[in-house]
Amino acid sequence: MENKKTIGIPRAISYYNYFPFWYGFLNKLGIEIILSSPTTKKIVSDGASLVVTETCLPIKVYVGHVLDLINKGVKNIFVPSIQSIAPKIYNCSKIRGLPDLIRNVVKGDFRIIEATLDKSEKNNNLIDFLKEIANYYDITDINTIKEAQNAGFIVQNNFNVMVQNGLNFEEALKNAKQGNVIIPPKQDAKPISIALIGHGYNIYDKHSSMDIIKKLEKMNVRVYNSYQLTIEQLKGGMNCLNATLYWANQHEMTGCAGHYLQDEKIDGIITLTAFGCGPDSLMVEDIKRKAKTYNKPLLNLTIDEHTGEAGFITRIEAFCDMLYRNKRAQIMKQRQKEEKLLARL
Ligand code: SF4
Repeated sequence: MENKKTIGIPRAISYYNYFPFWYGFLNKLGIEIILSSPTTKKIVSDGASLVVTETCLPIKVYVGHVLDLINKGVKNIFVPSIQSIAPKIYNCSKIRGLPDLIRNVVKGDFRIIEATLDKSEKNNNLIDFLKEIANYYDITDINTIKEAQNAGFIVQNNFNVMVQNGLNFEEALKNAKQGNVIIPPKQDAKPISIALIGHGYNIYDKHSSMDIIKKLEKMNVRVYNSYQLTIEQLKGGMNCLNATLYWANQHEMTGCAGHYLQDEKIDGIITLTAFGCGPDSLMVEDIKRKAKTYNKPLLNLTIDEHTGEAGFITRIEAFCDMLYRNKRAQIMKQRQKEEKLLARL
């Protein structure tokens, strides 16, 4: 495979947040993207075999995707080190150390396209980070890199608009890549609505999440998540939980939960977290406490590579049954109230 102008991107971790940007940016630079395949059992077990057992599932998945790219013959693999996205706002140590992890555990004939984004210690800008990537391909002209940056923003913004308006992840990505913006028609109401709180790499990876979104939709549930919210709404959610932003992906958890806890159309909350994730366990504790004060039922699901699908489905079904019963009881109560008022007339 000709690799001079190609780059392999693992379909894991930041893929679920920033791939539209990378697509626009790299295409404009004339660099062909090769994606790893969607996650499979083999990808997870290959990744898990190279790291210590306690490592969280998303990192095992990430390592598996790097191996998948190597097996495809890809020689340049993009493994950024996204340390800090704003002053004093950090990623977890595992995400920050991804290039070191890959260098140490994955052996093979490939080069890591490594760039560091650190807004705290080094205070470097996005453009410095992008220059580092372009330099691997001997692209040094700053105007070319800036144009590519703009192209990346356009694809990312189009993607964001579509998911915020309810288009599903795959459709939004497909259309954003083609330069289209599709706003789906308003969806019919469903009997119950659930806010699914989790990182994109957990909820949108169909293998890791056991396709939870589809499972819930099959149960006639409308599913909401952080992708449908604007940054202002996520910040408002952080305020609702009196939370201070520290983790780079905290908006996806705390901000999202804070927003939906105040949203009357939401009947219940499901948090989906990876076993062994320190930041998520702290954030979920906050969310749980606040959910009680808002009287919203909450189910916490933890995933790792051994999570059994049968038990997973049973828990989701039991939770949805309970929400349906709550909803029926609320409707009955409301009806009785209205009947009493009518009787007084
Ligand atoms: S935030 Fe948690 S789940 Fe995500 S990579 Fe870090 S430790 Fe793993």
